[in-house]
Amino acid sequence: MRRILATLVLCGCWAAAPADTMVPDHPAEQVSDHVYVIHGPTEYPTPENRGFINNPAFVVTADAVVVLDPGSSVHIGEMVLRQIARVTDKPVSHVFITHVHGDHWLGNQAIQDAYPEAEILAHPEMIRRAHAGEADAWLALMSRLTGGATDATEAVVPAVELVDGQELTVGGITFRVHLTEHAHTKTDAMIEVVEDGLIALGDNGLYGRIARMDDGSFRGNIAALERALSLELDHYLPGHGRTAGPEAASEYLEYLRRVYAAAAAGIEEGMQYYEVKEVLRPRMAAWADWPGFEEEFGRHVSLASLEAEQAAFE
Ligand SMILES: [Zn+2]
Repeated sequence: MRRILATLVLCGCWAAAPADTMVPDHPAEQVSDHVYVIHGPTEYPTPENRGFINNPAFVVTADAVVVLDPGSSVHIGEMVLRQIARVTDKPVSHVFITHVHGDHWLGNQAIQDAYPEAEILAHPEMIRRAHAGEADAWLALMSRLTGGATDATEAVVPAVELVDGQELTVGGITFRVHLTEHAHTKTDAMIEVVEDGLIALGDNGLYGRIARMDDGSFRGNIAALERALSLELDHYLPGHGRTAGPEAASEYLEYLRRVYAAAAAGIEEGMQYYEVKEVLRPRMAAWADWPGFEEEFGRHVSLASLEAEQAAFE
């Protein structure tokens, strides 16, 4: 028996074993007149959550449904379609993707299978990077983190490039596009649903969750959130965490400001990043229980220090 167990572990058969890859229903919550959000768990992808960790949303207009960020896999995209069907039988006409990270867009496949005519739109740089290797890298990463639960997924890369400031009207609802050059990534699109006074922040804004910033710019992310908050909207839909009022953008903005300001001051004073981290840590109690804080805080100080050092030479 022991030998059989060892063989199973060695060949990775445990990981291949779970055949049930269907994603259970997570109810959609109506957050404004036309917008519904399926708030995903604020976790990292695991075999248990099958990679479902983001906030897919959909907007029910007079003519059709517009989807935002349909999740990490074909099965999550199918779950999103099931939640849409509970609310309306209108077809999906458009899908907006907020950035290149695969937990937000690999569900496109399910939408395309059900609605081949639907237009899938994203930042031009998102489309370029997905084709240049990030799609494959994300498929592999999601498979590894979920023990193969996402393996049936194929990358359906958005085909339509968004333009900053562009407005698209679907069934009487206006979608205004806010692109940034370098914020959470170099591929971010924030989508404002004008009539509802709502903006989808993508991962430029998280609420009750700390993001990885490995592809990001602290200064750019801060500017993106300032731009979103200057719109003075009623509803802020974060990439992860609960939809809420302006606090769903401003609390993470304050986190980023504090990390970057401490890093920049540290550079001025000739401190090492780990010294900055020591000094700053007690001032970060407000975010210490946000998932991701323990994993990311040290890295953030280090990344912000590099960015501040670079900025000092500009
Ligand atoms: Zn992201």
